[in-house]
Amino acid sequence: MASPPRPPTLNAKHAKSAKKHCSAVLAAFAFFGLFHAAPAPHAQVGGRATTIVGGELADGTGAALRRANVRIVNDRIVGAGRDVKPLAGDTVVDATALVVAPGFIDIHNHSANELASEPAASSQVAQGITTVVLGPDGGSPWPIGEYLDERRRSPAAVNVAVMVGHATVRRLVMRDDYKRTATDAELARMTALVEQGMREGAVGLSSGLEYEVGGYADTREVVELAKTAARFHGVYMSHIRDEADKSFEALREAIAIGEQARIPVQISHIKLGTVGVWHKAADAIALIENARKRGVDVTADCYPYNAWSSTITVLVPDKRYDHPPSVEKALADVGGAGNVLIVRHAAHPDYEFKTLDAVARSRGVTPVEQFIQIVKDGGAGVVCTSMVDADIQAFYRQPWVMVGSDGGIGVRHPRGAGTFPKVLGRYVRELHWLTLPEAIRKMTSMPAERLQLRDRGRVAAGAIADLVLLNPSAVADRSTFSDPTALPVGIQKVLVAGELVWDGGQPVTSSQKRPGRVMATPN
Ligand SMILES: [Zn+2]
Repeated sequence: MASPPRPPTLNAKHAKSAKKHCSAVLAAFAFFGLFHAAPAPHAQVGGRATTIVGGELADGTGAALRRANVRIVNDRIVGAGRDVKPLAGDTVVDATALVVAPGFIDIHNHSANELASEPAASSQVAQGITTVVLGPDGGSPWPIGEYLDERRRSPAAVNVAVMVGHATVRRLVMRDDYKRTATDAELARMTALVEQGMREGAVGLSSGLEYEVGGYADTREVVELAKTAARFHGVYMSHIRDEADKSFEALREAIAIGEQARIPVQISHIKLGTVGVWHKAADAIALIENARKRGVDVTADCYPYNAWSSTITVLVPDKRYDHPPSVEKALADVGGAGNVLIVRHAAHPDYEFKTLDAVARSRGVTPVEQFIQIVKDGGAGVVCTSMVDADIQAFYRQPWVMVGSDGGIGVRHPRGAGTFPKVLGRYVRELHWLTLPEAIRKMTSMPAERLQLRDRGRVAAGAIADLVLLNPSAVADRSTFSDPTALPVGIQKVLVAGELVWDGGQPVTSSQKRPGRVMATPN
């Protein structure tokens, strides 16, 4: 290539003009890219090359930080180490004072509908997320194949993988008559749909057994469907039946499903969400460790917030939403109506961002009466302060707990825009709950291995170049419950398949780069 022997340090804008400069050369190699979808790891010729120099590498395995340069050709990493040097013609990215890490994989993300209208996924990319796993909690796009084809036709900035939703297939089969256990015939039809979803590329089966549709399923139903997902090497990922007083029963059920269906289990957003189970993380951990010792492959993800966000009805586990004693117990379980923040209520938008307690007071009714009225008026989205930090810390310190956001584009909870930077800024830098390499492992290689996402989650020769460059002394979340979409700081650059999608606190919109891929099985 006709380039100066020592390439200048370039930022993204310069890189663009440099590429323009080389367009003739690139055109000559275009066929190469087409016919070598998976180029040899050490390919040194053809296409675009970038070398990231001077950074500290967190390679995703949890290994200690080390000084390393990372060289990328087209969409793949071709080398990572001190001795890796930019070649003539490379775009050089200066990563001095930055940590270079694999792109973050969010194993629990609610952006399935939003990716079509917001393919740049700025609030996700801004956190360093390069892959979103969609369809959690039992609700997924359908048909899976059609959804994935749509993402192939109209890619996002981030990669996508999808779960088959248990409630989604349950609803397809039982329609509005879902408030009961399924018949054998219905179960057979659901099984066929799970099989269809897995064949079409889903990476596992998700359930939301605390929710309206999935909650009517018995364990046997879920076991049967999980067996089908297992045949396709999927995982079973569950928002378990209870995250409150009956958390331990619910954890036991999830473990039993894994054991009986012989499928890896992922406990979604592990938490202990009522006063009665606070400070019992050690017991939950022991339960899971015992299962792991028996050979049940159980892992979990956790979001870094002591408040959950869901529908107001989730507060009442016996589902007697208009029964004052049930509601009273529900509110007591979370420490009172002052801990329930209404964030969405179509019938009365003026209640939004007020606590249930404050709304009740302003209307001269009891919190129980106010709750019942809100449910009658169509329900509400709430954020409920209901966990203790000691439990969150204990969970994050387990080697089998990864980071997952349960967020997504436009989610009205700060985790939607802040999860990954919050872990890195608050839990790593400020509180020292985790080392930086371990936190990054929980965001990268752990979810990649869990979902068998090939060539992702590590910085190593041959891996796809999904990368994050972050400033470890500045990275921080800024989203709050009153401003849940405020973007974090300290994520400097994000690359997806070697393409820069985030640079210096901004999405790279000028290029309309949408390099995100579909990760289907086999991906
Ligand atoms: Zn959930």
